[in-house]
Amino acid sequence: MEPADPKTSRLVDRRLLLKLSMAGGLAAVVSPPGVAQAQDAQPLLAARPMPIVDTRFPAEMAPGVFVLPDKRIPLVPNIGIIVGREKVLVVDCGMGVENAEKVMRLAGQLAPGRQIVLTVTHAHPEHGFGAQVFKPDGRIYYNATQRDYLQRSGATLLDGFRTGVLPPTQKHLLDGVVLTPPDETYDGAQAVLDLGGRMVEFRTWGTAHTPGDQIIYLPQEGIVFAGDLLEERMFPIVPLFPPMITSGDIDVARWEIVLNDIRRLEPRLIVPGHGNLGGVEIAEDVLAYFSAMRSLVRAGGRSVSDLQSEIRAKYPTWENSEFISPALQYFQQGA
Ligand SMILES: [Zn+2]
Repeated sequence: MEPADPKTSRLVDRRLLLKLSMAGGLAAVVSPPGVAQAQDAQPLLAARPMPIVDTRFPAEMAPGVFVLPDKRIPLVPNIGIIVGREKVLVVDCGMGVENAEKVMRLAGQLAPGRQIVLTVTHAHPEHGFGAQVFKPDGRIYYNATQRDYLQRSGATLLDGFRTGVLPPTQKHLLDGVVLTPPDETYDGAQAVLDLGGRMVEFRTWGTAHTPGDQIIYLPQEGIVFAGDLLEERMFPIVPLFPPMITSGDIDVARWEIVLNDIRRLEPRLIVPGHGNLGGVEIAEDVLAYFSAMRSLVRAGGRSVSDLQSEIRAKYPTWENSEFISPALQYFQQGA
């Protein structure tokens, strides 16, 4: 599906360049997962770099469509800044007040004089807990299901991240976070926002990775911002972490429907929640992973640790193997 027109080719070239440069940067600082595990028995969290968003080098993927790459730093999301004539849309703002302030500042620099609108792909803390900084001048916009989930579970997520997810050296990043509802929401599956000369589509399917996940879709440019519905070469987070997140807040069957719908959009570029940018192969990889895991669990007769090792071995280059176990548990519960 190699596109032919010059605009698209440029987009693809940039994508490849970004992939290459990020892969190079990564190789310099991180060992392959297998090597790191063999040499170092430390818990993964303890060795993790500080999840600070680097706002220095926004990459322009199409005119006026910027991405702040996550640099594959855990708990840093890929962030979008989409510029219109009247408004600029920020897609996710990272975890905590400091990150959100940096992202807001950058949006102001890339789109001076425009009204800032923040949207959050989903209600997990590393994507938007810090959103309060946008309140005075900007507007916060997403769907009603995500709003309700934030209202219902935001405090639990905040507490769970402080006590169970973040290492002690990183807890301060959540200091001063005030759970902040959106100014406006859309009901139903879809909405369109006119930024001024640029239409942005919001689509939600209900509960998949979280209640109220949404993708942000630029039909003209063929770009999808997918949040954690997609991660690239990382074990997908089926976030079964009770009591912080229970199976009622996850629906992998619907998640698969979402990913097939994303494929049908035939996007030229997918911005996953975490990991390198790419095309529909990112969605295909995640679909294959769910399908493989479901088959393994249904086949039965194997110990959990056997299954874990088999899955780990099947994806030798994928990161974050700690997320294999909650996914296995989810499928074992018969979902
Ligand atoms: Zn998430």
